[in-house]
Amino acid sequence: MYFVLFFTIMLLFTSIPILLFGKQQRINDAQNELDKMMNLQQLFINHWFEDNLMNVQALTHLPAVINQDLERMETIFYEFEENYPKFDSIVFANEDGVAILSGSGSQKIDISEREYFQQAKKGMPYVSDLLIGKQSKEPLVFVSSPILDGDDFKGVVFGSIHLDTIIQIMVQFQDNTGETYIIDDDGMLITPSTQGKIGDHIDTAIFQNVSRQEKMNSFYQNANKEDVIGDYRSVNNGKWFIIGEKKESEIYRPFYQLILIFLVDFLILVTLGYFMISLFSNRIEKPVHQVLQATRAIGRGQWGYRLDSSHVNIDEFKELGNNFNEMAGLIEEYIFTIAKNEERFRLIAEHSSDVITVLNASGLFTYISPAGKDILGFASNEVIGQHVFHFIHEEDIETIQECYQQLFIGKFYVITYRVKRSDGTYIWFESSLRRLKTKQTNEDKIYVISRNITERKMMEEKLKEANIFLQDLSAKDGLTQVWNRRSFNEELTERWFIATTQHQTLSLIMFDVDFFKQFNDTYGHIAGDHCLQKVAKTVHELVSAFGFKLFRYGGEEFTILLHKASANAAAELAEQVRQAVEHLQIPHEASHTHEVVTISCGLYTCLPTDEKTLEQFIQQADHMLYEAKEAGRNCVRSKNDTSADKNDCTP
Ligand code: GH3
Ligand code: MG
Ligand code: MG
Repeated sequence: MYFVLFFTIMLLFTSIPILLFGKQQRINDAQNELDKMMNLQQLFINHWFEDNLMNVQALTHLPAVINQDLERMETIFYEFEENYPKFDSIVFANEDGVAILSGSGSQKIDISEREYFQQAKKGMPYVSDLLIGKQSKEPLVFVSSPILDGDDFKGVVFGSIHLDTIIQIMVQFQDNTGETYIIDDDGMLITPSTQGKIGDHIDTAIFQNVSRQEKMNSFYQNANKEDVIGDYRSVNNGKWFIIGEKKESEIYRPFYQLILIFLVDFLILVTLGYFMISLFSNRIEKPVHQVLQATRAIGRGQWGYRLDSSHVNIDEFKELGNNFNEMAGLIEEYIFTIAKNEERFRLIAEHSSDVITVLNASGLFTYISPAGKDILGFASNEVIGQHVFHFIHEEDIETIQECYQQLFIGKFYVITYRVKRSDGTYIWFESSLRRLKTKQTNEDKIYVISRNITERKMMEEKLKEANIFLQDLSAKDGLTQVWNRRSFNEELTERWFIATTQHQTLSLIMFDVDFFKQFNDTYGHIAGDHCLQKVAKTVHELVSAFGFKLFRYGGEEFTILLHKASANAAAELAEQVRQAVEHLQIPHEASHTHEVVTISCGLYTCLPTDEKTLEQFIQQADHMLYEAKEAGRNCVRSKNDTSADKNDCTP
């Protein structure tokens, strides 16, 4: 629609100079037409005058006329009038100015005062001004020619010509765009005009210009107050003037008609154009508008909106409509799936016994599922916007920080840590963290699923303790709580290997309670047990201070394995052990050698090599114990198989 308006205005603007040019062209054309017509009129009228004059002159040259043979003249004049009907009458006047005869008969009229007679007397042919016939009372023009016989003036032949003939000539050159008329030098109308009767005086601008002999270059008002352009030509030897005028309204009439036609054409064109565009827009704009409306509807969330393209005629639009509907269908399906997924997530999140939280890249909570309230005791508004560290046990913050760094390298991480509850207590959480980017903002979000594992942790603690206990149970002796025979074997194997590879000395103290069978017999088995416990405790405390272990080898036999200790140092320790037991002063009445419980110690020191065996090592120590027993008990017997005492480590 705007296009049509724009087109109309543009066309009107561009046509203004053409119209102005056209208008000027019309004036030029009118002036040219006037020019041509008046030239022709001038030519014709001058010729007419000459012709008439020549006709009259021809009579004057006839011998009958020169000789004034009145009888013959009458015949000639009669025939002349018959042949030239434009002549109202043809008259002969004698040298005294008395009209003698005419074609229509004899008459005696004195014309001596008439201008045409005066001129004839001077030997001049003459065409008179407009005169009113005395008898006919009609406007007449007199054409006269003198009759000369040599230089003698014999009279004049004159003819009166009715003005109708000139009028006819003038009419021949008229058209309906204006008029031509003849005035004399007084401005009197000689031929009829719309501006007055014959004989009336015209005093318009053109007449002023005729008097001044100037050209008319612009429009002026004629006697009827009409705007005209005009021109003039002189005829009849400058006594008369043909005036030609064209009316402005008539000049411009074709131009206005042209404009009218142009406007009508233009209107038809615009109307046609409008209908064409309406038709076009109905075919194109309407479907486009419908697509626009459909996209708006989808934009507003009316996912079910579909285009009805059944009435569309253009194939491309039909296809566009179908494609749009397919696309809208996909969007609807996609949105439905998202909604379903969101609902699913919401249900999972809200009904999960696990706490689901979402953190932003700065570590601030943006979401916490309802389980958070149940487990931690915090309302969601107390959590959202808070930093994650606010809820973490200070000892675990470092772990969480490390986890965060790992998350930004990888994407998935599992961590256990302590988290604060609203009552200030801490519980254990096992969280799986996943870093994801949000599609809309391309922002990093961390999704955390946390499970309360406090009970599991406690269970684990208990299990750990139980394990330690079980381990101790299998490694320690039940009665004395010192390391058992199995532990001894393991320790010995390990130490033997280290000593072999690192060329260290290894010593073994083996001691046995003296006459213990008798002790049991005397004080009972339970007292025997207590005795063993006391002995073991004392020796354990002593050797532990040096970093060594005490093993119950079996019954009332114990061993001490000394690594990186010199033979001397080992002997000294063996002696200290012996003394420590003696100092316990546990009465032993049945002992054959002492009154208190004593022990006998065997000590063997060597530098283990691949050639030596563990069994030999133990046998050597056992043998030294045997020797101590043999030597009277409550003593130490030792053997040193090391060549040099390199790794001296005094206990
Ligand atoms: P000696 O060693 O001086 O040659 O004489 P002994 O009487 O100690 O002889 P032996 O080593 O052969 O006797 C060991 C005794 O130790 C035998 C056993 O009754 C006693 N015994 C072994 N284990 C235990 C124990 O766990 N509790 C008690 N009460 N007695 C034990
Ligand atoms: Mg024994
Ligand atoms: Mg014994």
